Amino acid sequence: MPATPAPRLRADVSGLPRYVPGRAAPSDRVDKLSSNENPYPPLPSVVAAMREELERVNRYPDPGSRALVTDLSDALAVPPEHLVPGTGSLGVTRDLLRAAAGEGDEVLFAWRSFEAYPQLTWANGATAVQVPLRAERHDLEAMAHAVTDRTRMIIVCNPNNPTGTAVRRGELERFLDRVPGHVLVVLDEAYREFVDDPEVPDGVQVYRERPNVAVLRTFSKAYGLARLRVGYAVAHPPVAAALRACAVPFGVSGIAQAAARASLAAGPELLERVRTLVAERARVTRGLRTAGWIVPDSQANFVWLRLGARARAFTDACEAAGIMVRPFGDEGVRITIGAPGANDRLLKIAGDWLV
Ligand SMILES: *Cc1c(COP(=O)(O)O)cnc(C)c1O
Repeated sequence: MPATPAPRLRADVSGLPRYVPGRAAPSDRVDKLSSNENPYPPLPSVVAAMREELERVNRYPDPGSRALVTDLSDALAVPPEHLVPGTGSLGVTRDLLRAAAGEGDEVLFAWRSFEAYPQLTWANGATAVQVPLRAERHDLEAMAHAVTDRTRMIIVCNPNNPTGTAVRRGELERFLDRVPGHVLVVLDEAYREFVDDPEVPDGVQVYRERPNVAVLRTFSKAYGLARLRVGYAVAHPPVAAALRACAVPFGVSGIAQAAARASLAAGPELLERVRTLVAERARVTRGLRTAGWIVPDSQANFVWLRLGARARAFTDACEAAGIMVRPFGDEGVRITIGAPGANDRLLKIAGDWLV
């Protein structure tokens, strides 16, 4: 029998950067502070909404997520045509890339930033242009200089994953003034609900004045629905329409739509949990600094320790003590803010590690 040839794939696929997920927790007894998840389980009202949807899984979901769009439209005071739900903000990011940047186009973002950006950019055939952070923050000056005729999309991760640092209003507006209007600027606000610095702009206010700005939000972090995969874009009609054209039909499941709606309805209760986590972030930051660590000001649900070559060793020490944190090469370690008990254990290990 002749050898079966392997299927022909895109020549560049085998060389694409991969998304490296955080390791799975070996047991329920470890504290998983490695994936920026919300430590609190879904509210009973959200579980009830999901249960009700279970009875209908023989039917396709509403492909336009219309009820969710209506609720979001009311909550954010933006027209329904400006809202596009998707399979997590990651799914929406991929659809935005499809809509805006193909072969030969450049996608600009800070580095280090969210791990998925290089993978999604290259997988779409576009070229990632990564501008180094400066003092753990977006270097918007350097990013403005890096714009070329081929730049199609700029992603500003605000607050930035994994450093937690946030871009402020004035610097963002000055940056946007310098970016040509034909370049799409995406504000990835996956952690928006954790922001307590009034100088950090709300992307939904910024986009209103700027046709080339789109905002990404998610139910994965503050709302605690990471496993369901639902997020959305807020964008002006030409961008929103292109996004819908590039999306996988029926991507957002009925269960996800129902849970997202129930979460919006339970907003005050859920945001109370967010306030607890924000207070814990302050406590963890203080505790680490008191112990001698250098910790950038975080506006997200995690903190960043630039450990350099010691990142792996620190991660192993945490794991040995039953806490999972997230190392990034030999750059640093990101630690998610968990429930108070987990944070206490983290502070203990981190304190001991420096002595
Ligand atoms: C977690 C995260 C997301 C992913 O959100 P999903 O809605 O779960 O896809 C997007 N952007 C950033 C910066 C994140 O950290």
